[in-house]
Amino acid sequence: MSSTASGTTSTSSGTWRNWAGNVTARPVCEVTPASVEELSAAVRKAAEDGLRVKAVGTGHSFTAAAATDGVLIRPQLLTGIRGIDREAMTVTVEAGTPLKRLNVALAREGLSLTNMGDIMEQTVSGATSTGTHGTGRESGSIAAQIRGIELVTADGSVLTCSEKDNPEVFAAARIGIGALGIVTAVTLAVEPLFLLTAREEPMAFDRVLAEFDELWAENEHFEFYWFPHTGNTNTKRNNRSAGPEKPVPPLSGWFEDEFLSNGVFQVANWVGRAVPATVPTIARISSRALSARTYTDIPYKVFTSPRRVRFVEMEYAVPRAALVDTLRELKAMVDRSPLRVSFPVEVRTAPADDITLSTASGRDSAYVAVHMFRGTPYRAYFTAAERIFTAHEGRPHWGKVHTRDAEYFSRVYPRFGEFTALRDRLDPDRRFQNDYLRRVLGS
Ligand SMILES: Cc1cc2nc3c(=O)[nH]c(=O)nc-3n(C[C@H](O)[C@H](O)[C@H](O)COP(=O)(O)OP(=O)(O)OC[C@H]3O[C@@H](n4cnc5c(N)ncnc54)[C@H](O)[C@@H]3O)c2cc1C
Repeated sequence: MSSTASGTTSTSSGTWRNWAGNVTARPVCEVTPASVEELSAAVRKAAEDGLRVKAVGTGHSFTAAAATDGVLIRPQLLTGIRGIDREAMTVTVEAGTPLKRLNVALAREGLSLTNMGDIMEQTVSGATSTGTHGTGRESGSIAAQIRGIELVTADGSVLTCSEKDNPEVFAAARIGIGALGIVTAVTLAVEPLFLLTAREEPMAFDRVLAEFDELWAENEHFEFYWFPHTGNTNTKRNNRSAGPEKPVPPLSGWFEDEFLSNGVFQVANWVGRAVPATVPTIARISSRALSARTYTDIPYKVFTSPRRVRFVEMEYAVPRAALVDTLRELKAMVDRSPLRVSFPVEVRTAPADDITLSTASGRDSAYVAVHMFRGTPYRAYFTAAERIFTAHEGRPHWGKVHTRDAEYFSRVYPRFGEFTALRDRLDPDRRFQNDYLRRVLGS
Protein backbone atom coordinates (compact mmCIF):
# COMPACT_ATOMS: atom_id res chain seq x y z
CA MET A 1 0.00 0.00 0.00
CA SER A 2 1.31 3.47 -0.83
CA SER A 3 0.36 6.49 1.22
CA THR A 4 0.35 9.96 -0.33
CA ALA A 5 1.45 13.00 1.65
CA SER A 6 -2.20 13.99 1.90
CA GLY A 7 -3.17 10.93 3.89
CA THR A 8 -5.26 9.28 1.18
CA THR A 9 -4.09 5.87 0.09
CA SER A 10 -4.03 3.69 -2.99
CA THR A 11 -3.52 -0.01 -2.45
CA SER A 12 -1.53 -2.13 -4.88
CA SER A 13 -4.90 -3.50 -6.04
CA GLY A 14 -5.84 0.04 -7.06
CA THR A 15 -8.34 0.85 -4.32
CA TRP A 16 -8.63 4.56 -3.51
CA ARG A 17 -9.55 5.54 0.07
CA ASN A 18 -10.44 8.94 1.56
CA TRP A 19 -8.84 10.55 4.65
CA ALA A 20 -11.53 9.34 7.04
CA GLY A 21 -11.45 5.81 5.60
CA ASN A 22 -15.24 5.69 5.17
CA VAL A 23 -15.17 5.84 1.32
CA THR A 24 -13.33 3.51 -1.05
CA ALA A 25 -13.35 3.31 -4.83
CA ARG A 26 -11.82 1.10 -7.50
CA PRO A 27 -11.03 3.22 -10.57
CA VAL A 28 -10.21 1.49 -13.86
CA CYS A 29 -7.04 3.55 -14.04
CA GLU A 30 -5.28 6.59 -12.61
CA VAL A 31 -3.82 9.49 -14.61
CA THR A 32 -1.54 12.23 -13.27
CA PRO A 33 -1.52 14.92 -15.99
CA ALA A 34 1.33 17.43 -15.96
CA SER A 35 -0.43 20.07 -18.09
CA VAL A 36 -3.85 21.27 -19.16
CA GLU A 37 -3.20 19.64 -22.59
CA GLU A 38 -2.50 16.26 -20.99
CA LEU A 39 -5.65 16.61 -18.90
CA SER A 40 -7.77 17.45 -21.98
CA ALA A 41 -6.29 14.44 -23.77
CA ALA A 42 -7.17 12.19 -20.80
CA VAL A 43 -10.78 13.41 -20.84
CA ARG A 44 -11.04 12.83 -24.63
CA LYS A 45 -9.52 9.36 -24.31
CA ALA A 46 -11.95 8.47 -21.50
CA ALA A 47 -14.84 9.53 -23.77
CA GLU A 48 -13.53 7.29 -26.57
CA ASP A 49 -13.26 4.41 -24.11
CA GLY A 50 -16.74 5.11 -22.71
CA LEU A 51 -15.36 5.72 -19.21
CA ARG A 52 -16.37 8.26 -16.59
CA VAL A 53 -13.77 10.71 -15.25
CA LYS A 54 -13.26 12.17 -11.79
CA ALA A 55 -10.58 14.50 -10.42
CA VAL A 56 -9.64 14.01 -6.79
CA GLY A 57 -7.96 16.39 -4.40
CA THR A 58 -6.47 15.06 -1.18
CA GLY A 59 -9.53 12.94 -0.31
CA HIS A 60 -10.54 15.04 2.67
CA SER A 61 -14.24 14.77 1.82
CA PHE A 62 -16.34 12.44 3.95
CA THR A 63 -18.83 11.94 1.10
CA ALA A 64 -18.16 9.88 -2.01
CA ALA A 65 -17.97 13.11 -4.05
CA ALA A 66 -14.53 12.17 -5.41
CA ALA A 67 -15.14 8.43 -5.89
CA THR A 68 -15.09 6.91 -9.37
CA ASP A 69 -15.13 3.54 -11.07
CA GLY A 70 -13.72 5.15 -14.23
CA VAL A 71 -10.60 7.27 -14.75
CA LEU A 72 -9.23 8.90 -11.60
CA ILE A 73 -7.31 12.15 -12.23
CA ARG A 74 -4.61 12.86 -9.63
CA PRO A 75 -3.67 16.51 -8.86
CA GLN A 76 0.00 16.11 -7.93
CA LEU A 77 1.52 17.55 -11.13
CA LEU A 78 -0.95 20.39 -11.57
CA THR A 79 0.41 22.57 -8.79
CA GLY A 80 2.08 25.93 -8.26
CA ILE A 81 1.38 29.62 -8.72
CA ARG A 82 0.83 30.77 -12.32
CA GLY A 83 0.96 34.46 -11.51
CA ILE A 84 0.23 37.25 -9.08
CA ASP A 85 -1.51 40.42 -10.28
CA ARG A 86 -0.71 43.15 -7.74
CA GLU A 87 -2.98 45.67 -9.43
CA ALA A 88 -6.05 43.44 -9.40
CA MET A 89 -4.82 41.86 -6.12
CA THR A 90 -5.34 38.30 -7.33
CA VAL A 91 -3.32 35.12 -7.50
CA THR A 92 -3.82 32.49 -10.19
CA VAL A 93 -2.94 29.04 -9.02
CA GLU A 94 -2.91 25.56 -10.56
CA ALA A 95 -5.96 23.68 -9.34
CA GLY A 96 -4.11 20.87 -7.57
CA THR A 97 -2.03 23.17 -5.37
CA PRO A 98 -2.40 22.27 -1.69
CA LEU A 99 -3.77 25.20 0.34
CA LYS A 100 -0.78 24.99 2.68
CA ARG A 101 1.63 25.61 -0.21
CA LEU A 102 -0.51 28.49 -1.42
CA ASN A 103 -0.64 30.06 2.06
CA VAL A 104 3.12 29.84 2.57
CA ALA A 105 3.88 31.16 -0.93
CA LEU A 106 1.47 34.08 -0.51
CA ALA A 107 2.89 35.00 2.90
CA ARG A 108 6.37 35.11 1.36
CA GLU A 109 4.98 37.63 -1.15
CA GLY A 110 3.40 39.67 1.67
CA LEU A 111 -0.11 38.49 0.70
CA SER A 112 -2.93 36.42 2.19
CA LEU A 113 -6.40 35.04 1.51
CA THR A 114 -9.08 36.83 3.54
CA ASN A 115 -10.56 33.77 5.19
CA MET A 116 -10.03 29.99 5.28
CA GLY A 117 -11.14 26.80 7.03
CA ASP A 118 -9.66 24.85 9.95
CA ILE A 119 -6.97 22.96 8.02
CA MET A 120 -4.89 23.56 4.90
CA GLU A 121 -4.16 20.05 3.65
CA GLN A 122 -6.75 20.19 0.86
CA THR A 123 -6.15 21.18 -2.75
CA VAL A 124 -7.46 24.53 -4.00
CA SER A 125 -9.86 22.80 -6.44
CA GLY A 126 -11.02 20.15 -3.96
CA ALA A 127 -11.62 22.68 -1.21
CA THR A 128 -13.54 25.13 -3.39
CA SER A 129 -15.53 22.46 -5.27
CA THR A 130 -17.38 21.45 -2.08
CA GLY A 131 -17.67 24.95 -0.59
CA THR A 132 -15.02 24.67 2.12
CA HIS A 133 -15.41 27.56 4.56
CA GLY A 134 -14.19 28.94 7.85
CA THR A 135 -16.13 31.42 9.93
CA GLY A 136 -16.78 35.07 9.13
CA ARG A 137 -19.11 37.96 9.72
CA GLU A 138 -18.43 39.59 6.33
CA SER A 139 -16.03 37.17 4.66
CA GLY A 140 -17.33 33.94 3.13
CA SER A 141 -15.99 30.60 1.94
CA ILE A 142 -12.81 30.13 -0.10
CA ALA A 143 -15.02 29.78 -3.21
CA ALA A 144 -16.52 33.20 -2.47
CA GLN A 145 -12.99 34.61 -2.86
CA ILE A 146 -12.67 33.21 -6.42
CA ARG A 147 -12.39 35.77 -9.25
CA GLY A 148 -11.85 33.40 -12.17
CA ILE A 149 -11.81 29.70 -13.06
CA GLU A 150 -10.35 27.67 -15.92
CA LEU A 151 -11.83 24.23 -16.51
CA VAL A 152 -11.70 21.37 -18.98
CA THR A 153 -15.22 20.39 -19.98
CA ALA A 154 -16.61 17.05 -21.11
CA ASP A 155 -15.54 17.46 -24.77
CA GLY A 156 -11.97 18.18 -23.67
CA SER A 157 -12.09 21.90 -24.42
CA VAL A 158 -10.82 24.60 -22.06
CA LEU A 159 -13.35 27.11 -20.74
CA THR A 160 -12.54 30.20 -18.69
CA CYS A 161 -15.07 32.06 -16.63
CA SER A 162 -15.34 35.11 -14.38
CA GLU A 163 -17.96 37.72 -13.56
CA LYS A 164 -17.48 39.14 -17.10
CA ASP A 165 -16.53 36.02 -19.05
CA ASN A 166 -19.19 33.24 -19.16
CA PRO A 167 -20.84 34.63 -16.01
CA GLU A 168 -23.49 31.88 -15.90
CA VAL A 169 -20.71 29.27 -15.65
CA PHE A 170 -18.86 31.37 -13.06
CA ALA A 171 -21.98 31.56 -10.87
CA ALA A 172 -22.07 27.78 -10.60
CA ALA A 173 -18.53 26.48 -11.18
CA ARG A 174 -17.04 28.10 -8.09
CA ILE A 175 -18.75 25.30 -6.12
CA GLY A 176 -19.16 22.75 -8.89
CA ILE A 177 -18.93 19.47 -6.85
CA GLY A 178 -16.90 18.12 -9.77
CA ALA A 179 -20.02 18.05 -11.96
CA LEU A 180 -19.29 20.74 -14.57
CA GLY A 181 -15.73 19.98 -15.60
CA ILE A 182 -12.23 19.50 -14.29
CA VAL A 183 -10.89 22.69 -12.80
CA THR A 184 -7.34 23.41 -13.98
CA ALA A 185 -6.68 26.86 -12.50
CA VAL A 186 -8.32 29.19 -10.02
CA THR A 187 -7.86 32.96 -9.61
CA LEU A 188 -8.39 34.07 -6.03
CA ALA A 189 -8.64 37.54 -4.46
CA VAL A 190 -5.74 38.30 -2.14
CA GLU A 191 -4.93 41.18 0.19
CA PRO A 192 -1.80 42.50 1.84
CA LEU A 193 -0.69 40.19 4.63
CA PHE A 194 -2.37 41.21 7.88
CA LEU A 195 -2.36 40.17 11.53
CA LEU A 196 -5.17 38.58 13.48
CA THR A 197 -5.50 38.50 17.23
CA ALA A 198 -7.12 35.30 18.44
CA ARG A 199 -8.85 35.19 21.80
CA GLU A 200 -9.73 31.66 22.89
CA GLU A 201 -11.87 31.40 25.99
CA PRO A 202 -14.06 28.78 27.69
CA MET A 203 -17.67 29.97 28.08
CA ALA A 204 -20.91 28.36 29.33
CA PHE A 205 -23.15 26.99 26.54
CA ASP A 206 -26.17 28.96 27.84
CA ARG A 207 -24.17 32.19 27.85
CA VAL A 208 -22.90 31.69 24.28
CA LEU A 209 -26.46 31.12 23.07
CA ALA A 210 -27.85 34.08 25.05
CA GLU A 211 -25.12 36.39 23.72
CA PHE A 212 -24.66 34.83 20.29
CA ASP A 213 -25.92 37.84 18.31
CA GLU A 214 -23.49 40.17 20.10
CA LEU A 215 -20.57 37.75 19.89
CA TRP A 216 -21.20 37.42 16.17
CA ALA A 217 -21.67 41.18 15.60
CA GLU A 218 -18.63 42.25 17.64
CA ASN A 219 -16.11 39.91 15.98
CA GLU A 220 -14.87 39.48 12.42
CA HIS A 221 -14.57 35.72 12.93
CA PHE A 222 -16.46 34.10 15.79
CA GLU A 223 -16.76 30.35 16.36
CA PHE A 224 -17.20 27.94 19.22
CA TYR A 225 -17.04 24.28 20.14
CA TRP A 226 -19.70 22.80 22.41
CA PHE A 227 -18.81 19.60 24.28
CA PRO A 228 -21.84 17.24 24.29
CA HIS A 229 -22.79 15.90 27.78
CA THR A 230 -21.59 19.21 29.28
CA GLY A 231 -22.73 22.82 29.45
CA ASN A 232 -19.28 23.97 28.36
CA THR A 233 -17.87 25.51 25.19
CA ASN A 234 -14.58 26.89 23.96
CA THR A 235 -15.04 30.13 22.03
CA LYS A 236 -12.63 31.67 19.52
CA ARG A 237 -12.69 35.30 18.37
CA ASN A 238 -10.34 36.41 15.60
CA ASN A 239 -10.04 40.09 14.78
CA ARG A 240 -7.63 42.14 12.70
CA SER A 241 -4.89 43.72 14.70
CA ALA A 242 -2.29 46.45 14.26
CA GLY A 243 0.18 44.16 16.04
CA PRO A 244 2.71 43.53 17.31
CA GLU A 245 2.97 39.90 16.28
CA LYS A 246 2.72 37.68 19.36
CA PRO A 247 2.61 34.04 18.23
CA VAL A 248 1.81 31.18 20.59
CA PRO A 249 5.17 30.31 22.24
CA PRO A 250 6.51 27.07 20.70
CA LEU A 251 6.40 25.05 23.93
CA SER A 252 2.87 25.99 25.00
CA GLY A 253 1.78 25.73 21.34
CA TRP A 254 3.10 22.18 21.22
CA PHE A 255 1.48 21.39 24.62
CA GLU A 256 -1.98 22.77 23.73
CA ASP A 257 -2.21 22.13 19.96
CA GLU A 258 -0.32 18.85 19.68
CA PHE A 259 -0.25 17.21 23.12
CA LEU A 260 -3.73 18.15 24.44
CA SER A 261 -5.72 18.72 21.22
CA ASN A 262 -4.25 15.76 19.34
CA GLY A 263 -2.24 13.36 21.60
CA VAL A 264 -4.34 13.31 24.77
CA PHE A 265 -7.53 13.76 22.76
CA GLN A 266 -6.65 10.66 20.68
CA VAL A 267 -6.17 8.59 23.86
CA ALA A 268 -9.40 9.97 25.36
CA ASN A 269 -11.23 8.89 22.21
CA TRP A 270 -9.72 5.40 22.33
CA VAL A 271 -10.89 5.04 25.93
CA GLY A 272 -14.33 6.40 25.05
CA ARG A 273 -14.68 4.02 22.11
CA ALA A 274 -13.72 1.02 24.25
CA VAL A 275 -15.86 2.04 27.25
CA PRO A 276 -18.63 4.41 26.08
CA ALA A 277 -19.87 4.99 29.66
CA THR A 278 -16.71 7.04 30.30
CA VAL A 279 -17.49 9.55 27.52
CA PRO A 280 -19.45 12.14 29.58
CA THR A 281 -16.66 12.25 32.20
CA ILE A 282 -14.00 12.55 29.49
CA ALA A 283 -16.05 15.33 27.83
CA ARG A 284 -16.18 17.26 31.11
CA ILE A 285 -12.41 16.95 31.51
CA SER A 286 -11.66 17.76 27.83
CA SER A 287 -13.89 20.82 27.88
CA ARG A 288 -11.87 22.24 30.79
CA ALA A 289 -8.42 21.17 29.57
CA LEU A 290 -7.77 24.20 27.37
CA SER A 291 -7.44 27.48 29.21
CA ALA A 292 -7.98 30.98 27.83
CA ARG A 293 -5.21 32.34 25.61
CA THR A 294 -4.59 35.30 23.31
CA TYR A 295 -2.11 35.46 20.46
CA THR A 296 -1.45 37.51 17.33
CA ASP A 297 -0.17 36.03 14.09
CA ILE A 298 -0.57 35.98 10.30
CA PRO A 299 -3.96 34.66 9.08
CA TYR A 300 -3.26 31.04 8.15
CA LYS A 301 -1.47 30.43 11.45
CA VAL A 302 -4.53 31.69 13.33
CA PHE A 303 -7.26 30.11 11.19
CA THR A 304 -5.77 26.63 10.76
CA SER A 305 -4.39 23.97 13.08
CA PRO A 306 -3.30 20.34 12.74
CA ARG A 307 -6.07 17.71 12.97
CA ARG A 308 -4.44 14.34 13.55
CA VAL A 309 -7.26 12.51 15.32
CA ARG A 310 -9.34 10.95 12.54
CA PHE A 311 -13.11 11.32 12.60
CA VAL A 312 -16.26 11.28 10.47
CA GLU A 313 -18.27 14.50 10.15
CA MET A 314 -21.67 15.86 9.16
CA GLU A 315 -22.15 19.61 8.81
CA TYR A 316 -25.24 21.62 7.89
CA ALA A 317 -25.75 25.30 7.20
CA VAL A 318 -28.96 26.65 8.71
CA PRO A 319 -30.27 30.21 8.39
CA ARG A 320 -28.27 32.21 10.95
CA ALA A 321 -31.48 33.29 12.67
CA ALA A 322 -32.28 29.60 13.34
CA LEU A 323 -28.94 28.76 14.98
CA VAL A 324 -29.89 29.14 18.63
CA ASP A 325 -33.03 26.97 18.28
CA THR A 326 -31.06 24.39 16.29
CA LEU A 327 -28.43 24.11 19.03
CA ARG A 328 -30.97 23.93 21.85
CA GLU A 329 -32.72 21.10 20.01
CA LEU A 330 -29.41 19.33 19.37
CA LYS A 331 -28.44 19.53 23.05
CA ALA A 332 -31.88 18.32 24.19
CA MET A 333 -31.62 15.40 21.74
CA VAL A 334 -28.18 14.35 23.05
CA ASP A 335 -29.25 14.81 26.69
CA ARG A 336 -32.26 12.50 26.40
CA SER A 337 -30.59 9.89 24.18
CA PRO A 338 -28.29 7.00 25.10
CA LEU A 339 -25.71 8.45 22.64
CA ARG A 340 -22.13 8.90 23.83
CA VAL A 341 -20.41 11.67 21.85
CA SER A 342 -16.73 12.25 22.51
CA PHE A 343 -16.17 14.95 19.84
CA PRO A 344 -17.18 18.61 20.24
CA VAL A 345 -19.81 20.23 18.00
CA GLU A 346 -18.32 23.07 15.95
CA VAL A 347 -20.32 26.23 15.21
CA ARG A 348 -19.35 28.85 12.58
CA THR A 349 -21.01 31.48 10.38
CA ALA A 350 -20.89 32.89 6.84
CA PRO A 351 -22.57 35.84 5.14
CA ALA A 352 -24.92 35.22 2.20
CA ASP A 353 -23.13 34.77 -1.15
CA ASP A 354 -24.14 34.59 -4.83
CA ILE A 355 -22.84 31.10 -5.76
CA THR A 356 -25.61 28.85 -7.10
CA LEU A 357 -25.05 25.81 -4.84
CA SER A 358 -23.14 27.42 -1.99
CA THR A 359 -24.52 26.39 1.40
CA ALA A 360 -24.69 30.16 2.04
CA SER A 361 -26.31 30.95 -1.33
CA GLY A 362 -28.62 33.91 -0.82
CA ARG A 363 -28.86 33.57 2.95
CA ASP A 364 -26.85 34.49 6.06
CA SER A 365 -25.83 31.15 7.47
CA ALA A 366 -24.59 29.36 10.55
CA TYR A 367 -22.81 26.01 10.33
CA VAL A 368 -23.26 23.23 12.87
CA ALA A 369 -20.86 20.30 12.56
CA VAL A 370 -21.19 16.99 14.42
CA HIS A 371 -18.31 14.53 14.54
CA MET A 372 -17.64 10.97 15.66
CA PHE A 373 -14.26 9.38 16.31
CA ARG A 374 -13.30 7.07 13.44
CA GLY A 375 -14.41 3.51 14.15
CA THR A 376 -17.28 4.54 16.46
CA PRO A 377 -20.81 3.92 15.10
CA TYR A 378 -22.04 7.33 13.93
CA ARG A 379 -25.34 6.68 12.12
CA ALA A 380 -27.72 7.01 15.10
CA TYR A 381 -26.18 10.36 16.13
CA PHE A 382 -25.98 11.77 12.61
CA THR A 383 -29.55 10.64 11.76
CA ALA A 384 -30.96 12.35 14.85
CA ALA A 385 -28.89 15.50 14.20
CA GLU A 386 -29.86 15.55 10.51
CA ARG A 387 -33.55 15.43 11.44
CA ILE A 388 -33.04 18.66 13.42
CA PHE A 389 -30.97 20.34 10.69
CA THR A 390 -33.42 19.54 7.89
CA ALA A 391 -36.37 20.81 9.97
CA HIS A 392 -34.60 24.20 9.69
CA GLU A 393 -34.14 23.84 5.92
CA GLY A 394 -30.48 23.04 6.47
CA ARG A 395 -28.11 22.61 3.57
CA PRO A 396 -25.41 19.96 4.05
CA HIS A 397 -21.76 20.59 3.24
CA TRP A 398 -21.14 18.85 -0.11
CA GLY A 399 -18.05 17.12 1.30
CA LYS A 400 -19.50 15.90 4.60
CA VAL A 401 -21.77 12.97 5.45
CA HIS A 402 -25.49 13.49 4.71
CA THR A 403 -28.41 11.52 3.27
CA ARG A 404 -30.14 14.21 1.16
CA ASP A 405 -31.04 13.84 -2.52
CA ALA A 406 -31.89 15.96 -5.57
CA GLU A 407 -35.54 16.27 -4.58
CA TYR A 408 -34.55 17.81 -1.21
CA PHE A 409 -31.98 20.12 -2.80
CA SER A 410 -34.50 21.41 -5.33
CA ARG A 411 -36.48 22.65 -2.29
CA VAL A 412 -33.68 24.24 -0.22
CA TYR A 413 -31.76 25.79 -3.15
CA PRO A 414 -33.93 28.28 -5.10
CA ARG A 415 -31.42 28.15 -8.01
CA PHE A 416 -31.01 24.35 -8.10
CA GLY A 417 -32.57 24.12 -11.59
CA GLU A 418 -30.08 26.69 -12.89
CA PHE A 419 -27.20 24.41 -11.87
CA THR A 420 -28.67 21.23 -13.37
CA ALA A 421 -29.53 23.05 -16.62
CA LEU A 422 -25.92 24.19 -16.90
CA ARG A 423 -24.73 20.64 -16.25
CA ASP A 424 -27.04 19.41 -19.04
CA ARG A 425 -25.35 21.88 -21.37
CA LEU A 426 -21.72 21.28 -20.30
CA ASP A 427 -21.86 17.54 -19.63
CA PRO A 428 -24.79 16.04 -21.55
CA ASP A 429 -23.26 12.54 -21.52
CA ARG A 430 -22.45 12.72 -17.80
CA ARG A 431 -18.73 12.14 -18.31
CA PHE A 432 -18.18 13.47 -14.74
CA GLN A 433 -21.03 11.52 -13.14
CA ASN A 434 -20.60 9.24 -10.13
CA ASP A 435 -23.02 7.68 -7.64
CA TYR A 436 -22.81 10.70 -5.36
CA LEU A 437 -23.72 13.18 -8.10
CA ARG A 438 -26.52 10.89 -9.29
CA ARG A 439 -28.02 11.12 -5.81
CA VAL A 440 -27.56 14.85 -5.17
CA LEU A 441 -28.16 16.24 -8.68
CA GLY A 442 -30.18 13.47 -10.34
CA SER A 443 -29.25 11.38 -13.37
C1 LIG B 1 -9.61 17.11 9.03
C2 LIG B 1 -10.57 17.83 8.13
C3 LIG B 1 -10.86 19.17 8.37
C4 LIG B 1 -11.74 19.85 7.53
N1 LIG B 1 -12.02 21.17 7.81
C5 LIG B 1 -12.94 21.82 7.07
C6 LIG B 1 -13.29 23.17 7.36
O1 LIG B 1 -12.75 23.80 8.26
N2 LIG B 1 -14.25 23.74 6.60
C7 LIG B 1 -14.90 23.08 5.60
O2 LIG B 1 -15.79 23.65 4.98
N3 LIG B 1 -14.56 21.82 5.27
C8 LIG B 1 -13.61 21.18 5.99
N4 LIG B 1 -13.27 19.89 5.66
C9 LIG B 1 -13.85 19.30 4.44
C10 LIG B 1 -12.90 19.51 3.23
O3 LIG B 1 -12.41 20.82 3.18
C11 LIG B 1 -13.67 19.26 1.93
O4 LIG B 1 -14.23 18.00 1.93
C12 LIG B 1 -12.77 19.46 0.68
O5 LIG B 1 -13.58 19.28 -0.45
C13 LIG B 1 -11.61 18.49 0.62
O6 LIG B 1 -10.70 18.88 -0.38
P1 LIG B 1 -9.79 17.82 -1.14
O7 LIG B 1 -8.70 18.54 -1.83
O8 LIG B 1 -9.40 16.74 -0.19
O9 LIG B 1 -10.81 17.27 -2.23
P2 LIG B 1 -11.50 15.84 -2.40
O10 LIG B 1 -12.19 15.50 -1.13
O11 LIG B 1 -10.51 14.87 -2.91
O12 LIG B 1 -12.57 16.16 -3.52
C14 LIG B 1 -13.68 16.97 -3.22
C15 LIG B 1 -14.51 17.23 -4.47
O13 LIG B 1 -13.78 18.11 -5.33
C16 LIG B 1 -13.73 17.54 -6.63
N5 LIG B 1 -12.50 17.96 -7.26
C17 LIG B 1 -11.23 17.87 -6.78
N6 LIG B 1 -10.37 18.38 -7.67
C18 LIG B 1 -11.10 18.81 -8.72
C19 LIG B 1 -10.80 19.44 -9.96
N7 LIG B 1 -9.54 19.72 -10.31
N8 LIG B 1 -11.81 19.75 -10.79
C20 LIG B 1 -13.09 19.47 -10.46
N9 LIG B 1 -13.43 18.87 -9.31
C21 LIG B 1 -12.46 18.55 -8.46
C22 LIG B 1 -13.79 16.04 -6.40
O14 LIG B 1 -14.20 15.36 -7.55
C23 LIG B 1 -14.83 15.99 -5.29
O15 LIG B 1 -16.11 16.13 -5.84
C24 LIG B 1 -12.37 19.18 6.45
C25 LIG B 1 -12.09 17.83 6.20
C26 LIG B 1 -11.19 17.15 7.04
C27 LIG B 1 -10.90 15.70 6.78
